[in-house]
Amino acid sequence: MSATRYRLKLEVANANVTLKLKTVLGDVKGLQEELTLLQERGSIKKMIEQLDDKYSKLQRSKMVRHENKYGICDACGGPLGKNYTTISTATLAGVCLCSECSTEDE
Ligand SMILES: [Zn+2]
Repeated sequence: MSATRYRLKLEVANANVTLKLKTVLGDVKGLQEELTLLQERGSIKKMIEQLDDKYSKLQRSKMVRHENKYGICDACGGPLGKNYTTISTATLAGVCLCSECSTEDE
């Protein structure tokens, strides 16, 4: 196993964005320097934008489900049913899959 590294996680409600850092556990000075570097490069701003985007997509999918009672699967267009899955990766945030579609490609 490689050394344990810090992770920077921004979270709001049920949405979060995580960035793996290069600094290893215990290197406080290195961590401060890396955070400063991320700030200078605009990486932190990018994380915040990703999080905002993700959060609003999740909120929207929640609203859609509420209005349609169960909603519609984003993959097959069928009814979601009660055992649907909400995807929350950065690229697919808010996508809802029925139980059949969510188990298909693993
Ligand atoms: Zn489906």
